[in-house]
Amino acid sequence: MKKRLLILFCCLFLTGCAAVSPLAEKETVALDTVVKIALYDSDDTALVEGCLEQIRQLEQQLSRTVEGSDIQRLNTALGQPVTVSQDTAELLSTALHYSQLTAGAFDVTVAPVVDVWDFKSGNAAPPSQERITAALQTVGYSGLTVTGDKAQLAQPNAAVDLGGIAKGYVADRCAAYLREQGVGSALIDLGGNIYALGSRDGKDWRVGIRDPEQEGALAAVVMVQDCSVVTSGTYERGFDHDGVRYHHILDPATGRPVQNGLASVTVVSENSAQGDALATACFVLGPENGLALAESLPGVEALFIAEDGTLTATSGLHYETK
Ligand code: ADP
Ligand code: MG
Repeated sequence: MKKRLLILFCCLFLTGCAAVSPLAEKETVALDTVVKIALYDSDDTALVEGCLEQIRQLEQQLSRTVEGSDIQRLNTALGQPVTVSQDTAELLSTALHYSQLTAGAFDVTVAPVVDVWDFKSGNAAPPSQERITAALQTVGYSGLTVTGDKAQLAQPNAAVDLGGIAKGYVADRCAAYLREQGVGSALIDLGGNIYALGSRDGKDWRVGIRDPEQEGALAAVVMVQDCSVVTSGTYERGFDHDGVRYHHILDPATGRPVQNGLASVTVVSENSAQGDALATACFVLGPENGLALAESLPGVEALFIAEDGTLTATSGLHYETK
């Protein structure tokens, strides 16, 4: 399990909530990570449980490893149309939108290449170029269609992977649920994918951004209200081989981990699915094109941290360096 995520959350607590403690909170494992819900203006633990229940239900639909999930059925349908839930159809459409917007820097059909790298298995060697090239044949978001409650992949061995956007979508749903229940101040942390709901006692939330080089240390703090803060970093998942870091953010054009000098990209936006997809995409696009994309989108701010420690932010980001 990702210990660093716990550390991140502790950092968040240190920086974010020095003056206020949550009135109800719970931490658990879901979505293949550590999930933490903390309410600051309600002590109703049933709302925390309700939030966790939403997360579990969505995971049952969206995970490609859960037997019988919408995504697992889509990926094994051999190109036939599959009926999916409204949630799944909505997220697939959103994922397709960001695949198109980023011209495939974010590509929802990257799954076959993800499988070839198999970062979750603990393997510590890169796959052969032949296997990468073969997997790339089936990657291409134009092969996915979503119409109403039907989703379809054009190629029989194509597959979708929502790992780069699902946590954001789930965070949005949690935030919507808590708002509906009258909560006005909460932190939703889905493995470092954070939704800072409302404000912290009328003031900004202060969300710590990890120093990519140093576990447990912060590179920056962003100040936000009612916003999602999502980071894609090389340190989240991967392995080192012959002195090279192979991490889980893949360039769909090459089928290889992105190596462009970036160590992490954080996106601040109202919508967390958008922030999640854009954090991945901006990482792939790199410091110049990624920054230009983030700057061009209204309501989106971003922080790029390079491997050499350089921080670059969009013009509207409120942050402090550490
Ligand atoms: P994290 O899972 O750490 O929050 P990201 O949001 O950056 O990080 O998502 C990375 C995951 O998304 C990978 O584990 C993989 O499943 C998937 N992925 C990797 N590269 C891409 C890409 N270029 N486009 C879409 N999804 C990707
Ligand atoms: Mg992402």
